[in-house]
Amino acid sequence: MTISLPRRSAEQVLDRASARRFVAGHIAGSADAFDRRGDLPESLFEAMAEAGLWAPFLSADQGGAGVSYATLGSIHEEVGRGCSSVRSLLTVHTMVSFAISRWGSQEQRQRWLPELASGRVQAAICVSEYEAGSDTGRIGTTARRTDRGWVLDGTKTWITAGRRAGLFLVFARTGSTIAAFLVPRDTSGVEITPIDGILGTRASLLATVGLRDAELGPEALLGPENFAAGMLLAGTLDMGRFSVAAGSVGIVQACLDACAAYTTGRMVGDSRLRDLQLIRAKMADMVTDVTAGRLLYEHAGRLKDSGNAETIMATWIAKYFASTAAARHAAEAVQIHGAHGCGPEYPVARYFRDAKIMEIIEGSSEIQRLTIAEAAYRRSEP
Ligand SMILES: Cc1cc2nc3c(=O)[nH]c(=O)nc-3n(C[C@H](O)[C@H](O)[C@H](O)COP(=O)(O)OP(=O)(O)OC[C@H]3O[C@@H](n4cnc5c(N)ncnc54)[C@H](O)[C@@H]3O)c2cc1C
Repeated sequence: MTISLPRRSAEQVLDRASARRFVAGHIAGSADAFDRRGDLPESLFEAMAEAGLWAPFLSADQGGAGVSYATLGSIHEEVGRGCSSVRSLLTVHTMVSFAISRWGSQEQRQRWLPELASGRVQAAICVSEYEAGSDTGRIGTTARRTDRGWVLDGTKTWITAGRRAGLFLVFARTGSTIAAFLVPRDTSGVEITPIDGILGTRASLLATVGLRDAELGPEALLGPENFAAGMLLAGTLDMGRFSVAAGSVGIVQACLDACAAYTTGRMVGDSRLRDLQLIRAKMADMVTDVTAGRLLYEHAGRLKDSGNAETIMATWIAKYFASTAAARHAAEAVQIHGAHGCGPEYPVARYFRDAKIMEIIEGSSEIQRLTIAEAAYRRSEP
């Protein structure tokens, strides 16, 4: 789905401060309503396009603003602080934009990057299938080479932005390996089925994407055919993990904000909740983890900016730390709010549901721990 040309007369989101202003003006006050409706208004997509929020890390000649990855993280943190559903859309859009800018041909870059940078087209990434989540080696969607290009067959599911995206980056099996394909939404054989009732990030426009004899030209293949299973998939998921790490820090910050306000107003006996030591202990743990999580993703972002391959492990660690911290502190935030925290009156129930999702997507906590431990053993080998 496309939107009209952005005017770009609005303030551009180029750093944490401008992102915070954008979120305050367009997202924070409506995030609970987005969550309840399981949808986002058209006006928000237009505002995001006008603010240059979709892919500011792309270079100016690609339509972006050349924002560094460390800064991009802080922008995604601020958006995640306001609404994890909106940040999820930015995450998958960032992953696809990054993959095309990094591995696309000249023609693919010219065709797609200005569209993605401007927000005229939104992107989604299709890796998961009912039978293939963490284990991408089980991907069953096939890509068959023909005289005219490729034919894709299979079903991708839990696709963030799937209800709306104009471009899908689809990972499919070509014989013994897995390759990546750029699939426009209007390709014949693409079938979109919305998914409702998901636990968290309810407004992230999830869908199942069916590919039924979907015919594509040769230009659909992104990167060399035997390449995706390695660098392209790993690099693209790394970018998603980075965004989720930052967004998870945003959730912890949001928990802290909500708890500071609530405990200041709520009385038990003659005391404000904020004056109780057990409450202060929880607040201190939130402050400590939000600070640590921020330092971890900023470190990973700086490594990306300097082209240091260590960023991959730094990003795993940042995402593992931040997503588990978000789940822990969102549970405590509900606890601190008591029954008020269980209803729609306060945002902490939404944080609680959204934070759980962060422990599952872009590499579950179990996969993160296995990967981090494996690297530790490799490093300790003589
Ligand atoms: C809200 C939401 C949005 C999503 N958006 C997208 C999207 O945009 N695009 C996309 O492609 N996918 C998306 N997904 C899917 C997501 O990437 C997968 O859910 C994730 O990769 C985990 O796969 P799975 O759910 O199949 O779980 P499985 O891989 O089946 O794992 C089930 C459980 O077993 C554990 N486990 C798996 N392997 C091991 C192991 N070796 N050792 C120990 N434990 C293990 C896992 O950690 C998990 O706890 C989304 C999911 C959700 C919930």
